[in-house]
Amino acid sequence: MLAVLRRRGIVSGTVLDAMAEVPRDLFVPEHLAELAYEDGALPIGDGQTISQPYIVALMTEAAELKPESRVLEVGTGSGYSTGVLSRIAGHVFSIERHDSLAIAARRRLADVGYLDNVSIVVGDGTLGLPEEAPFDAIIVAAAGPRVPEALKAQLALNGRLVMPVGSAAGFQQLNCIVREGETDFRTEVLAPVSFVPLIGAQGWQR
Ligand code: SAM
Repeated sequence: MLAVLRRRGIVSGTVLDAMAEVPRDLFVPEHLAELAYEDGALPIGDGQTISQPYIVALMTEAAELKPESRVLEVGTGSGYSTGVLSRIAGHVFSIERHDSLAIAARRRLADVGYLDNVSIVVGDGTLGLPEEAPFDAIIVAAAGPRVPEALKAQLALNGRLVMPVGSAAGFQQLNCIVREGETDFRTEVLAPVSFVPLIGAQGWQR
């Protein structure tokens, strides 16, 4: 898996080390464990997927995390990308709208000993977590029609928000939005991607 990530252009040693450390086979359904280190998304139940390793690495690299970073993740899913973020950042707050997925993710993260700097919250991540803001990085693992205003408001100055934006049908652009001032945001387009929809008050209505 690491060789594929390097070949596809991931250069951050911190990100590659985190990807090497987190046991992805423990975050996929048991009958799919043999596919855990292939570079593909896999089903995890409730119509959702664990993200492709390359995309997790690309989003994590774009977030430019530091050991003291406070990170908000929207879309916990299996908890795998939460685990990767937790190996690099100071604290990761991750919101999931399906409580069954959130419970399973919390259990897996506890099993691998990563809960010390992770908080899993059930709710609508399009509204963020205002009581814990500002965040140095926000990573949204589901695609919305636009970047939620609530998330932009919760991004620290010079913070980075990584999120797929586009249609609900699986054709989106992965964007990195950098907050350069109180009302000043710069957008970089990273790659074409295909994510499940972000469903919520500031996402798709379903
Ligand atoms: N990165 C995750 C992993 O490694 O397993 C996979 C994330 S999966 C592609 C997207 C997740 O976003 C799904 O679990 C879905 O339920 C969740 N989601 C969609 N809309 C949401 C919202 N408004 N708030 C929180 N979670 C949401």
